[in-house]
Amino acid sequence: MIKVERPRDSKPSALDSVRRTDGTTEKQRAIRAYEKLGNADQLDPKKYKFDFKAYRKQEVKDKLAELFKGKCAYCESSYSGTQPMDVEHWRPKGEVHLESGDKLQGYFWLASDWDNLLPSCIDCNRSRKQWDVLEERTFNVGKANQFPVEGTHLVATNSPHLLRLDDESPVLLHPCKDEPAQYLKFGISGEVRSRGNPDGGPDKGFASISVYALNRSGLVMDRLEVVCLIQQRVYTIRALINILDQFQDHIPEEVYGIVEDLLGHEMTALLALQGAERPFSELARQIIEHYAHEIGLEEASPIIDGIDE
Ligand SMILES: [Zn+2]
Repeated sequence: MIKVERPRDSKPSALDSVRRTDGTTEKQRAIRAYEKLGNADQLDPKKYKFDFKAYRKQEVKDKLAELFKGKCAYCESSYSGTQPMDVEHWRPKGEVHLESGDKLQGYFWLASDWDNLLPSCIDCNRSRKQWDVLEERTFNVGKANQFPVEGTHLVATNSPHLLRLDDESPVLLHPCKDEPAQYLKFGISGEVRSRGNPDGGPDKGFASISVYALNRSGLVMDRLEVVCLIQQRVYTIRALINILDQFQDHIPEEVYGIVEDLLGHEMTALLALQGAERPFSELARQIIEHYAHEIGLEEASPIIDGIDE
């Protein structure tokens, strides 16, 4: 997961489009529909389901793909070549499933809220049986309708417009609100661990790794491939630096130039792996930083304190 800026003017117009017959937006119709229900029925997800459509519009998918560069907002895998994108509601629109097994009514008034929509791969967004490499067991993981908070959830009854999202304390990382690098620490085997909360609040890293299933085995294997790619580049860079250091007085100038050129090429290719458009770019940035000093890269970020060997 990486920080992604979501400019104010990026909001797709489809989210606020009005119905020709009565000039209402989907959000207005949803609020009106839920208002008509008694409170008890509102809180029983089986009693009522609104047919949300605005978030599924192609314009919304295209804009999310553009902002997140065709990658899942949670795991940074590139979904575009293998699967359709799930337009994910960070705060679930239909119902919220609690750890206790109880269910709450979802955040229906945020179903077409631009800040609440994220592009997700299927495995992060849906509950599926997966092997977790750190827990060493298979169980159902994936976000689905989970949305843990510290304290109580905001639950709209009659007046969602009176609720302030700032009054709720989510414990999941949001790529446009949080700085994920401060919470997530990637290891040399492709696994990810929490750094704990730097502000002493809830452990958002731990909760996010668990809810978004960031240590499922397939994902960890894909991240490990990037680690191997980095290590191969680092090996070559190290060897080229050694040649230049040890044999600079013994090799012809033209050969020295060729080796220098190769070194520059390898370095550029290595740094490209941490580009925001590349899968698992935050893992790449942290692993490259681990080798930064020995290959002559000195711009270490202050928030990184090494990786697990
Ligand atoms: Zn994902």
